[in-house]
This record gives sequence, C-alpha cells and structure tokens, in this order.
Amino acid sequence: MRSRTLARKEQPLAEAQVREMLAAKGLRATKRRMAVARIIAAAAQPVGVKEIHRRLSRTDSTVGLATVYRALAVLEDAGVARRQPRVGSDSAQYAPAPPAAAGGGQVVCSRCGKTESIGDLPEFASIRSTVARNSKFAAAEQSLYIIADCRNERCG
Ligand SMILES: [Zn+2]
Repeated sequence: MRSRTLARKEQPLAEAQVREMLAAKGLRATKRRMAVARIIAAAAQPVGVKEIHRRLSRTDSTVGLATVYRALAVLEDAGVARRQPRVGSDSAQYAPAPPAAAGGGQVVCSRCGKTESIGDLPEFASIRSTVARNSKFAAAEQSLYIIADCRNERCG
C-alpha cells in the first residue's frame, strides 16, 4: 500500500521541549536525564537500556545502570521517551515519544526495531468509535503497534 502518511518520519523533541515537559510534571531536568533524552532523540532506531548506558558512559564514566533505569522511568513519565515492545527479549528499548495526541500507529520491525509512524489512519477513527460503542470508555486516542519485518537488507 502506498500512502503519503507512511513515509512520515517522527521529529525528535527539541531540548527546550524536553525541559518543559519535565517541568510540567514537577521533574528536574538533571544533567543525566537530559543526556539520556539526547541519546534517545539522536538514535535512528529505538535504543536498549544497556546501549544507552554504554553511550552515556563515554562522557560520564561514573554513571550506573540503575541511574539510567531511573532516568528512563522519569522521561517516560514526562512523556519524553516511550518504552517499546521488543519481540523475543525481556530487555526494554526506548524511542522518543511521538508528539502529544498524535493518536497514530507505528510499525515496528521485530528484528532491528526500526520504527516508522503510519500516522492517524481513517481506520483508527473507526476502531475508536467501535470501542466507544462496545465499552464504557470514550476512546480519546490510541497508539497502535504493528510488529512487522522491515525490508531493509541490512536488517537484523
Ligand atoms: Zn528490520
């Protein structure tokens, strides 16, 4: 299927936005939280916790893995980073959160973790109204992950 919405790449959050989002939750933009946010924003693909720790250690040799986990929990809470499902592994990986209320879908490669936004397709509105009809929830937005295999020849 060819669609203009398929190729839309996510824009990583600007640093000022990250600070604002943390402040909105009463969370401090510490040096390490900001460094973790930068690593996630700069990565072309979702990054695993150990890889984030490894990259952070290059400039911050005393940082521990537990600190990285705590920073990620804070960034996730503030809506800056998003934990992503990783097929066949218990360890989490993180990607920049999509802009608020994007309500869209993501295609995630099960092997390399490459993620692409598929936007808010008309079909999603129909899922929301079905949910609203069949349950006691008024669906406001949804995020949908489609786990797939990408066609990148260097995948895996
Ligand atoms: Zn792939």
